[in-house]
Amino acid sequence: MRYSQSLLPTLKETPAEAEVISHRLMLRAGFMRKLTSGVYTYLPYGLAAIRRVEAIVREEMNRAGAQELMMPMVQPADLWRETGRYEKYGPELLRFHDRHERESCLGPTHEEVITDIIRRDLHSYRDLPINLYQIQTKFRDEIRPRFGLMRGREFIMKDAYSFDVDDAGAEVAYGKMYEAYKRIFTRCGLEFRAVQADSGAIGGSFSHEFMVLADTGEDTIVVCKSCEYAANMEKAEVKPAEAKNDEPLLDLEKVETPGKRKVNAVCEFMDITPDQLVKTMVYIADGTPVAVLVRGDREVEEVKLKNFLGAIDVELADDKAAFDATGAPTGYLGPVNSKIKLVADQEVAAMANFVVGANEKNYHMRNVNLGRDFEVSGIADLRQVTIEDPCPACGGEIDLTEGIEVGHIFKLGTSYSESMEAMFQDADGQEKPFVMGCYGIGVSRVVAAAIEQNHDENGIIFPVPLAPYQVIILNLGLKDESINAAAEKLYSDLQQAGIEVLFDDRDERPGSKFKDADLLGIPYRVTVGKSLTKNGVLEVRRRSDGYTEEIAPEQIVESLLERIKKDMEH
Ligand code: ATP
Ligand code: MG
Repeated sequence: MRYSQSLLPTLKETPAEAEVISHRLMLRAGFMRKLTSGVYTYLPYGLAAIRRVEAIVREEMNRAGAQELMMPMVQPADLWRETGRYEKYGPELLRFHDRHERESCLGPTHEEVITDIIRRDLHSYRDLPINLYQIQTKFRDEIRPRFGLMRGREFIMKDAYSFDVDDAGAEVAYGKMYEAYKRIFTRCGLEFRAVQADSGAIGGSFSHEFMVLADTGEDTIVVCKSCEYAANMEKAEVKPAEAKNDEPLLDLEKVETPGKRKVNAVCEFMDITPDQLVKTMVYIADGTPVAVLVRGDREVEEVKLKNFLGAIDVELADDKAAFDATGAPTGYLGPVNSKIKLVADQEVAAMANFVVGANEKNYHMRNVNLGRDFEVSGIADLRQVTIEDPCPACGGEIDLTEGIEVGHIFKLGTSYSESMEAMFQDADGQEKPFVMGCYGIGVSRVVAAAIEQNHDENGIIFPVPLAPYQVIILNLGLKDESINAAAEKLYSDLQQAGIEVLFDDRDERPGSKFKDADLLGIPYRVTVGKSLTKNGVLEVRRRSDGYTEEIAPEQIVESLLERIKKDMEH
């Protein structure tokens, strides 16, 4: 493509609206333009990157035996009523009426539509297993669209749905998608982890999220430095603490701590460290207060607490609710003679002679011990993991990193097929509901995540497989006939060789051509300028590390082909 003829509007200034780096760079590099909140036009350069992701996704889905189809974006409300989701889905589902007053919605996902297709056309176990997918625009009326393509209202998703005769079959389908997803993100050149996600009512390890590791993800994930372990923060287990040592239990003491309510203030006043203190945190779990005990320097993990209590909703009690429940003023809460149910993080059970609030204003207690001074109704892993904790799988060091969810696979079971009466006849003549799975990839989000992971202060550094062009040629001699001719020839030779080339033939200063080339993040830059007429060489520079070589024009096609081929291999 000739730059002079392309719609590739780069910006020098960073747009104020963009909060994260990928959003800034995508606007600056002319990827897309906002039409309205969370809704974007993909300009040619951005679309080309999206198409690269799509091509990899499509190839790997086909390789895994899935078939492509395309379902409508507009869906009738009645179909969604069959699963109860028309009412349940919430305001993210954009509902509207057509001219005949028929209620409809814009598809945020397609379980209902695909199940409807299958129930009409597949009736026998002989037709199974089957896996169908599409790459299509979704609409979700997100409450807070932000970060550009990362969280749009309109976005491109690949969604696949599998149908099997039984659980074992569904698990095979799940495994195939798991492997396909690993191949897809590897081929995209991304650093990612598959993390176990909460699979809610289904249980087991049948939901994984694929997370691209980046500094600005919306989720925190825990990854092991030595083994494959990776989990969402709220799911990451803490290894049980060493059992209580044989420290002798000292006598319980009440201590006056005037005005000392915060952990740090109490510690300073009593000359102890936060790991010798136990915090008492009051939560309201489905309307009932419960106090959670954690070490002074730890945080309660609400998802773990919720799962442990089997509650639908848990919320930290405000000062008034906590006082009403316990009768103790904020900052002086403690487990001794507690009026409400107590649960303790496992680490507390391994502590001896610790400090707690005395349930009385301006007083704490010293040398408190679980079992001697108070009892709890449950001990469990209830706290957030910290960077000092060992990997729960191998004991190695862990890292906390931000992650961007680019894919999600889920074993659905029979909930959709049962509510929609999607049945097939099994080998023994019995009618059975299909066993389903669903598998999503945020195609447009993948591009944002790739940039979030691969950039520097000058711009994007595209992983070669996702780059809209593999090579950019800078013609720095528009007014010099021999340079001009050499640049034109190179452009045509590279295209002949099947390389995607952006040919910067604009009448611009060299400085701004170099700047744009860096901003756009095209993997290889070839400069055709004075070094050609002087020394008979072209300068080839790799965007990722700045590595620069001078190459004779006769060797350049071969040399670039070789490098690109290597970059694409995984
Ligand atoms: P999130 O937790 O980020 O809201 P989700 O769990 O609701 O996502 P899924 O229903 O699992 O999303 O959708 C499959 C994939 O679609 C996600 O893994 C993500 O990559 C992508 N995706 C979801 N919502 C958006 C959005 N608003 N903008 C861009 N991509 C999205
Ligand atoms: Mg998800």
